[in-house]
Amino acid sequence: MPELPEVETVRRGLVKVLVGRELVGVDIRDGRLTAPADPTAVAHELLGAVVTGVGRRGKYLAVALDDGRTLVCHLRMTGWFHHVSELSERPHLRAVFELDDGTWLLYSDQRRFGTMRLIEAGELEEHWRGRVGPEPLDGTWTPQMLRAALARRTAPVKALLLDQKVVAGVGNIYADEALWIARIHPLTPGAAIGAVRARRLHDAVITVLERGIRHQGASIDTYRSVDGQPGSMQERFAVYDREGEPCLRCGRPIRKIRVAQRGTHYCPNCTPRP
Ligand SMILES: [Zn+2]
Repeated sequence: MPELPEVETVRRGLVKVLVGRELVGVDIRDGRLTAPADPTAVAHELLGAVVTGVGRRGKYLAVALDDGRTLVCHLRMTGWFHHVSELSERPHLRAVFELDDGTWLLYSDQRRFGTMRLIEAGELEEHWRGRVGPEPLDGTWTPQMLRAALARRTAPVKALLLDQKVVAGVGNIYADEALWIARIHPLTPGAAIGAVRARRLHDAVITVLERGIRHQGASIDTYRSVDGQPGSMQERFAVYDREGEPCLRCGRPIRKIRVAQRGTHYCPNCTPRP
């Protein structure tokens, strides 16, 4: 599933091709994408709108329109925006946007978990509330905020990092990478993370997310950027997807366990069990 670095890479690609463009044709072919709203009605609402910006909140994309409304998109498992100069049919094509410069933005989604929702002007902040917590890279997120979010929680810190209200945008890959950098075992209860380790983890989360963005995200499954290029972060994982391979810090084999139903990678030597 795309996490913050992958979604941010998509956002940057969408800025290049969408901002200033009018949507001169909109065809939403899958009702699940806009549910419970009717896809034909949403397509009609979008027709003629001019894109004024593309933002991101956690793993959500926010396409701003000139009438003040916002199309909020979530790629979930396999959603993919692809910019092309000629329209061609392809498998799993769920939505087609024709742009006023003669190009096309296609949305494919094999697993069909992705969502698109049109938010009325002035209602965006309310939409985020209760869905996403602090934004890790906007300069407002502090180690104290992370520690407070983990305090009194008995759940494993790995599971808490996946909670979008603890910190927005972190998923399975970047949680494992951040915990390894911070030298914290994934099963450590949230409440056991004191001020020192909270600061280490906070800094590690920022480090891995920024590194992910720098390498255009990780392409371990279907993820590609808007221009169709894979990212290269998967070549730089310290622990994720490296079970049995040597730890980059100590050389001992990386181990894989399940935490919160998710495959979790860690070094048993660098991060002993709590
Ligand atoms: Zn190690």
